[in-house]
Amino acid sequence: MTDNAPKAGPTPPADDPLAPLSLPSPLHRIHHPLLDARDVRLWCKRDDLIHPTLSGNKWRKLKYHLERARSQGKTHILSFGGAYSNHIHALAAAGFRLGLRTTGIIRGEAATVSNATLSAARGWGMDLVFVDRQSYRRRQDPDWLARFEDEDTLIVPEGGSSPLAIPGVAELVTELPFSPDLWVLPCASGGTLAGLIAGKRERERILAIAVLKGGGFLHDEVCRLHPAAATTQGWHIALDHHDGGYARFSQALWQWVQDFSAQTGLPLEPIYSGKAMWGLFRELDAGRIPRGSEVVFIHTGGMQGLAGLREQGRL
Ligand SMILES: *Cc1c(COP(=O)(O)O)cnc(C)c1O
Repeated sequence: MTDNAPKAGPTPPADDPLAPLSLPSPLHRIHHPLLDARDVRLWCKRDDLIHPTLSGNKWRKLKYHLERARSQGKTHILSFGGAYSNHIHALAAAGFRLGLRTTGIIRGEAATVSNATLSAARGWGMDLVFVDRQSYRRRQDPDWLARFEDEDTLIVPEGGSSPLAIPGVAELVTELPFSPDLWVLPCASGGTLAGLIAGKRERERILAIAVLKGGGFLHDEVCRLHPAAATTQGWHIALDHHDGGYARFSQALWQWVQDFSAQTGLPLEPIYSGKAMWGLFRELDAGRIPRGSEVVFIHTGGMQGLAGLREQGRL
């Protein structure tokens, strides 16, 4: 977020949680020789531009959780994530924005995980509680959770993926001025996909690119989050574009992402949006996207993660 080119005139600080939300998010046409060769038209739904800190799918998934907190008079939101979690980052900013206390249960040791994501979250007033992996696995166990909550607490599951995430994501579909043949998006916990299935029109298809290895569980998880998905046609999760697993990526993928960004002007990161775009172009290359298709790729945000990857020397 810090390497945005400075613009003329007064602009809010790049990471200001109080900046206004830009909704509906912009839709940008993407041009690329392979798209022309395959007679496919591609647009990007720029949810990464919704807000500098509350970006992407994390904002959409949080929206009705925040509503619920307000309607139930909860003043404290508790959630979970890894040390570079986009969800933790967005929740901390949302709490700051709305005057809600937030707690992030973070997988890892405080001494070993200090990074830009967590510093920002702390700066917005989030209480960070570091737990080891074994404890973290108990994050759905009410007995374990009891020590962190009181009657004013709303618990939001990891990644913000709960049935409450569904309507917020489904709204995205209504922002589009036309009905695409195909939606494409990255998929990790399945919450965003579940919301898109809930919102899509019957004729529209969805290709979700699993960004993690062993995504066989995702189909059932999507149906748990949104039971009507089980009887909804036209969605598919591609499991073979994970490139090594969650938050892993090859040098080849990162190079492809950088070249693609330079060519198209679309900023991407390698964990979600870049990996999903790479997956889409592999599908395109393999001839698996029908000619004549109008495709909308959802940029789910997460650009804050680049800072962490740079800090770790991975880019
Ligand atoms: C969390 C996240 C995803 C994955 O969304 P799920 O709802 O967990 O499948 C995709 N893109 C970005 C940028 C994310 O932060």
